[in-house]
Amino acid sequence: MNNKSRVTCTRRVKFSAGHRVMGHENKCATPHGHNYVVDITAEAENLDDIGRIIDFSVLKEKIGGWIDENWDHTFLLFEKDTQTIEALKQAPAKKPLYICPFNPTAEEIAKYLLLKIAPEILKGTGVHITKIVIHETDNCSAEARLD
Ligand SMILES: [Zn+2]
Repeated sequence: MNNKSRVTCTRRVKFSAGHRVMGHENKCATPHGHNYVVDITAEAENLDDIGRIIDFSVLKEKIGGWIDENWDHTFLLFEKDTQTIEALKQAPAKKPLYICPFNPTAEEIAKYLLLKIAPEILKGTGVHITKIVIHETDNCSAEARLD
């Protein structure tokens, strides 16, 4: 078989969250929300005995589970956005706000999942997430991938 073939698998997960893009010139500077769609692409050195990179359900449980717990039904807010953080802390809520070390654009969210969260979750499994696509709307998405 051709050694140069490259196989990937992709699992889609969804979450609903609010955010505010600090410094945005227009309407995204107002707190608002999206039904985010996340495409998580995985690769491994070798396929397992069954012929998989990783079972789709494991990607959903591991990465989707983290997203559900931390991002679904809350707000992603830049740590420098103290005014919005303080205001939203006054609102009754069942989950904490997610305070990001980045301005929560689709691009930055994709990068953070790719470079920070996924490697921690999949450490030691031999499986690597090599691409994350975040769809904010039907028409708008951002992609982050490893070289
Ligand atoms: Zn938005």
